[in-house]
Amino acid sequence: MLRTHKLGEADRIVTIRTGQQGKGRAVAKGVRRTASKFGARLEPFMVADVQLYEGRSLDIITQAESLGSYGAQITSDYPSYTAASAMVETADKLTESEVSLQQYLLLVGALRSLARKEHGASLTLDSYLLRALSMAGWAPSFQDCSRCGAVGDHSAIVVQLGGVVCDDCAPPGSPRLGRDTIELLSSLLSGDWEHAEAAEERTQAQATGIVAAYTQWHLERGLRSLAHVSR
Ligand SMILES: [Zn+2]
Repeated sequence: MLRTHKLGEADRIVTIRTGQQGKGRAVAKGVRRTASKFGARLEPFMVADVQLYEGRSLDIITQAESLGSYGAQITSDYPSYTAASAMVETADKLTESEVSLQQYLLLVGALRSLARKEHGASLTLDSYLLRALSMAGWAPSFQDCSRCGAVGDHSAIVVQLGGVVCDDCAPPGSPRLGRDTIELLSSLLSGDWEHAEAAEERTQAQATGIVAAYTQWHLERGLRSLAHVSR
């Protein structure tokens, strides 16, 4: 479930991200009238197996079986909530038309990890963003020059060029990153949590800034919820 909107007295429009059919909107009837279990399965950050009935304009959800209820754990913790909101908004933007089971599984995995507090909320979000953008065809390079392919290590980074760049490709005044920050970015991209969690706070903050800039660059309209993420 990505988002919900109220519809009339008792109904809700639910935006869902599915594994097989991309994104869609459907109506859940009567879910706001009572504290129904059915309604609880259709809250944001919930993963459910839903059955849809083809309606006149929007499909109608007739049944929902919970596959993962991450909502309560996520919404009760502000850093987790803001991170999850940014993830869901990213997934929403990345999957406007294309269908990708991989993107769906990545999102579900990240929400589950947030709910279980496996890693810091900020690191989980950064890792999710790098991997989601990579799957969408925008894999950053943190090793070889992202412009000419010259073998790294490079310290200059230009998000508009796709990651680190060699000294020949780096425009004058390009920001430079320390080795630790570039290694952290690589770890977040590859899911090397042991290394990522050992990074100092200052390094994590620097990496977060790069991930945010990289994400904003690729998602043209920008992510509103990134501004609310508490770091
Ligand atoms: Zn180069």
